Amino acid sequence: MFSDDDYEKLIDNVYTNLPEKLTKTERFEMPKFEFFTEGNKTIIKNFKVVSDKIRRDQQFVAKHFSKELAVPVEVAGDRLILQRKIMGDMLNKKLEEFVSKFVVCKQCNRPDTNIQELGHGLKQLMCESCGARTPIR
Ligand SMILES: [Zn+2]
Repeated sequence: MFSDDDYEKLIDNVYTNLPEKLTKTERFEMPKFEFFTEGNKTIIKNFKVVSDKIRRDQQFVAKHFSKELAVPVEVAGDRLILQRKIMGDMLNKKLEEFVSKFVVCKQCNRPDTNIQELGHGLKQLMCESCGARTPIR
């Protein structure tokens, strides 16, 4: 059995011994919501920061979360107010789902994408890095 200390040393070692190029990853760094609850509301403090980072319109992200969580939401400046107490890490789990569906390119895994409206409610994800187009369902 390892003690916590041993485990941390082990992890430290693993990281120190990684070759430089492996630690400098080009993968997209998943943003995280910072939030707190107030009465029956949940308030995401860094909603604008996260929306900007994933380059999606705040209203678009808000609408998605409202639908996914079945809760009324309101964009208030840089914050998003959800009219319900949302427990634990549900919000960040939903954010990850959102990013993998609406942001990250399915071909090259980069986040440099746009959403294109095709009409009739159809959308596609267009990648600026590799040019891939993926329908969004
Ligand atoms: Zn791509």
